[in-house]
Amino acid sequence: MIERTLILLKPDTVQRGICGEIISRLERAGLKIVGMRMVWADRDFAKQHYAEHLEKPFYKGLEDMIVMGPVIAMVLEGVEAIELVRKMCGATEPKSANPGTIRGDYAQVSYGHADKRGIGIKNIVHASANKKDAQIEVGLWFTPEQLHTYKTVHEVHVFE
Ligand code: ADP
Ligand code: MG
Repeated sequence: MIERTLILLKPDTVQRGICGEIISRLERAGLKIVGMRMVWADRDFAKQHYAEHLEKPFYKGLEDMIVMGPVIAMVLEGVEAIELVRKMCGATEPKSANPGTIRGDYAQVSYGHADKRGIGIKNIVHASANKKDAQIEVGLWFTPEQLHTYKTVHEVHVFE
């Protein structure tokens, strides 16, 4: 039941200076940070990360967006963390994302707006979508040595 998932604080989040606020929300839910690094992805790396979207009409804008500055990459660990983190992020389109979710609270753009301008949707975070993606994405962004096993003071509440 304990899972690891990849989350990226995208370049828009870093450039807006709201990484701390987003990280706080994830920590507050009890998620454990087991890896964290700042990475400026290049276009080749972006293509690996977003391989499933290479043929999509929005890919060019998406790639431009993810390489426009550094991201903060994190691996979070927790109970069914993959689904939990996706829920906390909210819907892909900020306009549709519910208030209370990260995307709903910190972003506003719509598919219509982004597609009309040919730009990627700036929606604050990336989070692994399922177990298979989480395993691939954690391995893409982190070496085993960059991931840490330690105890948080909260774990007594998770396991007892
Ligand atoms: P998610 O990030 O919620 O898993 P997707 O995997 O569908 O969403 O898309 C990856 C990223 O591509 C989104 O987070 C968003 O930044 C961007 N994106 C998705 N759809 C569009 C679109 N129609 N126009 C522009 N950018 C998009
Ligand atoms: Mg996705």
